[in-house]
Amino acid sequence: MANMMKAAVFEAVKVIKVKEVPIPEIGDEEVLIKVKNTGICGTDWSIYNGWYSADKLPMIPGHEFSGVIAKVGKHAASLKAGGLKEGDRVTADINMACGNCYYCMRGDQLLCDSFTQLGIHTDGTFAEYVKARASLVHHLPDSLSFEEGAFIEPLSCCIHAAKAMNARIGGSVAIVGCGLGVLHARMAVLRACAPVIIIGDNKKRLRIAKEMGADYTIDIHEVADPVAEVLRLTGGRGVDYAIEAVGTTKTYEQAFAMLRKGGVLSAFGITGEQDTMHIRPFEFVLGEKKITGSCAGIGDDWPDAITLLAAGRINPKPLFSMKVPLEDLEWSLHELRRDPNLFKIFVSPEVSKREVL
Ligand SMILES: [Zn+2]
Ligand SMILES: [Zn+2]
Repeated sequence: MANMMKAAVFEAVKVIKVKEVPIPEIGDEEVLIKVKNTGICGTDWSIYNGWYSADKLPMIPGHEFSGVIAKVGKHAASLKAGGLKEGDRVTADINMACGNCYYCMRGDQLLCDSFTQLGIHTDGTFAEYVKARASLVHHLPDSLSFEEGAFIEPLSCCIHAAKAMNARIGGSVAIVGCGLGVLHARMAVLRACAPVIIIGDNKKRLRIAKEMGADYTIDIHEVADPVAEVLRLTGGRGVDYAIEAVGTTKTYEQAFAMLRKGGVLSAFGITGEQDTMHIRPFEFVLGEKKITGSCAGIGDDWPDAITLLAAGRINPKPLFSMKVPLEDLEWSLHELRRDPNLFKIFVSPEVSKREVL
């Protein structure tokens, strides 16, 4: 059927069906994108398990993507500087703010009262086609592969967090977590921070972080008290900046305890909605510690991510593990939990069997 496409539909909690669904119809200010790759993200696992966006099911998740424009809405080309046309290699900012609520008017689109993300709240890219707002589309430089193109979204999130934290040159940084924590470590190195310390539970990823410039790695299987170790590495003072990139109460408390007086905690890892952590107000008053939160990459975080990838400042290729067909999405979601050596798995409607990258 001409107007149908293949998609991995999350029908209900823990039920994925790969099936034929209608190709999205685009509006005048939208483009239709033929999907090349979609990176699997922790958020997809949360949606699968019903921890997130359960009220949106059935839906097609997938938000870390690259593709090629297949169709341009009537007014879409004029909404992007440089225009848009069929065949353009692109990705798209997934954050669709309303543009006129209290927060949008202040320029805080991520806090928009009717905040919507493509592939998280609306149909996304575990499919052959997706539609996107023309104004949110970004071109991929020729030098970037479609795998790198699908990595712009997670990188933009790290860039947004780094901008919020605003580390000073020479500042010490500890990153708790070695998932996207590896990218945070690289960002800290690029920002001329030192020392950069990364704490995690995965030897391979800690090694990659070290290769990307981290000064110290702390494997929690080998070091009983990572807080004490960070204090030791900083002359007993603690770090200027701590980035929590795991998302548990325990690791948040650890990250906060690693800070020196006046230090800044960057809250990046997503915890359960009702989780709480213990902090002594004393630490804010006499210790003058601060917290910055960050939930996604938006606006100029996207072109910044593209620039850093294209310039080779960040080389994500050591983090790419595999490319799989849509039919293997559910298998991949479980495999990512089971095999600690896997990092980024891309789902592609264009492949018919698993490929190791
Ligand atoms: Zn993601
Ligand atoms: Zn808004």
